[in-house]
Amino acid sequence: MKVSQPPQESATIAAIDLGATRIKAGLVVDGVIRTSTTTVLGPDDKTQDGIVLRLDAVFHDLCARGNVDPSAIAAIGIGAAGATRHVEGIIAHSPNFPAWSEFPLRRLLVERLGLPVHLDNDANALTLGEARFGAGRGYRDFVCLTLGSGVGGGLFLNGQVYRGAFGMAGELGHITVVPEGFPCNCGNRGCLEQYASATGLRNRVRRDDLFGGLTDTALADPDLPRRLFEAARAGDERCRGYFDDFGYHLAIGIGTILQVLNVRLVILAGGLARALPAFGPRLMAELPGRGYPCVNSVADVVPCALWEDGGVLGAAALVDEAQAGKS
Ligand SMILES: [Zn+2]
Repeated sequence: MKVSQPPQESATIAAIDLGATRIKAGLVVDGVIRTSTTTVLGPDDKTQDGIVLRLDAVFHDLCARGNVDPSAIAAIGIGAAGATRHVEGIIAHSPNFPAWSEFPLRRLLVERLGLPVHLDNDANALTLGEARFGAGRGYRDFVCLTLGSGVGGGLFLNGQVYRGAFGMAGELGHITVVPEGFPCNCGNRGCLEQYASATGLRNRVRRDDLFGGLTDTALADPDLPRRLFEAARAGDERCRGYFDDFGYHLAIGIGTILQVLNVRLVILAGGLARALPAFGPRLMAELPGRGYPCVNSVADVVPCALWEDGGVLGAAALVDEAQAGKS
């Protein structure tokens, strides 16, 4: 007699995108975000204890909103801004939160919530998300660059995220594109993220005094890059020049990456990937000459597919990866 098995119920994952200024969280089932919340980080969240309490509250709020018992959650995935040692579940260094140094976030959350927790940096999580659900589907090898306040990177090689000796491979924002260029908070000079990010655009605006004596607070306005992009699109010559330089430096960085890895796909994510129409022409004009053209000119450079959902779906993909035994 044939006994039919009941269909396997899909697992619900709590997925958390822990950014520099806010937490986006979602309950994810089969790659679909069912319930989501956004929480702005405050002064109390700067300490290790503070952010653990905040994440506990976010998790329970998410479960309440989604009408899901916390004990029914299969696992928690977290993509966090900063340098992260994935295997140990430790945030090694966070540029925005100095107190989160050598921070054993995974262990503290496992002890507090009693669930499996999988932690990685936000760029690796996003790369996995694009591999499973986005622009990287069907590719065995690709590189993902996140163009935001800084530049993050993820390497997807041989069908999985490549993390290096202790989980810090793919810090592509810190490859040198100007040998004696601007100092970077990583300790190097002339890093890609000093030129092809919101930080790079702010550096230019400050140096050129574009708006006549803008204060640091005004320069920090998250909307500033979008305003520069709109001005460039409207034909402002100086803003067009900023994005032209952005594309030029990005081409040097991507050219170097392609010479090392010879992948056929580069995915651009993060808010500034939306400015591709402004920096793309210079990027694509410059790229073939920045290494062997037969390598550089066959790579497609495309925007991501997941956009604002990439962080949360990427965090969920960390759980899938761990369950498949590939992390
Ligand atoms: Zn750097």
